[in-house]
Amino acid sequence: MKYYQPRSVSDALEIAQTSEGTFLAGGTDLVLHMQTGKAQPLGLIDLGKISELSEIKETDGYLDIGSMATFADMGRSELVLRNASALWLACQTMGSPQIRNQATLGGNLGNCSPAADGLPPLLALGAEVHLISKKGDEVVSLETLLSRSPLLAQETLIRGFRIPLKGLKSGFAKLGRRQALAIARLSVAVAVEMDGSKAGNVRVALGAVGRRAFLSESFSQKLSDGELNGVWIERGVEEVQRVVREALGARASAQYKRVAVSGVFREAVSTLISEGGKKA
Ligand SMILES: Cc1cc2nc3c(=O)[nH]c(=O)nc-3n(C[C@H](O)[C@H](O)[C@H](O)COP(=O)(O)OP(=O)(O)OC[C@H]3O[C@@H](n4cnc5c(N)ncnc54)[C@H](O)[C@@H]3O)c2cc1C
Repeated sequence: MKYYQPRSVSDALEIAQTSEGTFLAGGTDLVLHMQTGKAQPLGLIDLGKISELSEIKETDGYLDIGSMATFADMGRSELVLRNASALWLACQTMGSPQIRNQATLGGNLGNCSPAADGLPPLLALGAEVHLISKKGDEVVSLETLLSRSPLLAQETLIRGFRIPLKGLKSGFAKLGRRQALAIARLSVAVAVEMDGSKAGNVRVALGAVGRRAFLSESFSQKLSDGELNGVWIERGVEEVQRVVREALGARASAQYKRVAVSGVFREAVSTLISEGGKKA
């Protein structure tokens, strides 16, 4: 198998077209899949030497996060904490310290497991994804991208993520199998636009409830413009239980997740109120 280490995005794209190789980021999913035979790449295109892909910066009203930013990078970033606290919180509990040092946000989307921790926060925050392929650049909302099948063509590179800087407050919580190496059994991200004590434009995204993370449309209609208080939270709990019931139907995990999601939703809202886990 061939191994490539391009120094620029254009070189990576050219190699992808000519070699039919597979992009390698942190390798925490791909290498395991190669070991089990689930992935059998013809070649590996290691993105690790393309430094621009690891940048986290503010540009033109967006928080830009390169696809090679690791969960550890994001979890240390003041910019992420200030503008995307749901994502920052997800970075604190993802995997173990060793996994967070390797695992990237691009790889989280590329692998797109139902339990991918990065995706519910990005959905709640209205993130867009910047893709590049031989056809050119495409910026698409993550929500739209997640409805595509397959998610990406083989030679399409995830360049990065753009989160609009709208001053949203956001929170995240998950239920893991155990504290260390906690792969989510259920995760909830919430984002709201606060107007005094009222919560507007309410966005709730769920992970590990179905094939891929998703944004539920119903919260915006049912919970927007209410006072963010105990009554609001209980209405949210009812709604999130309804959404889980509808999404999981008769699956074996449905009953357990319908009950568990109420606690996870409450916790996500409490992190939102305390601004990224830090008491206001
Ligand atoms: C012990 C352990 C614990 C874990 N715990 C968690 C957890 O708590 N939460 C969680 O969400 N995940 C967890 N994971 C899964 C994994 O770490 C994440 O999904 C991680 O984000 C994958 O990123 P990576 O950089 O390692 O991707 P890689 O393994 O390098 O790539 C994954 C896939 O994405 C594609 N890809 C990568 N980058 C790009 C790009 N820029 N453009 C196009 N395609 C690309 C690759 O071709 C591959 O198909 C865990 C894994 C392990 C081994």
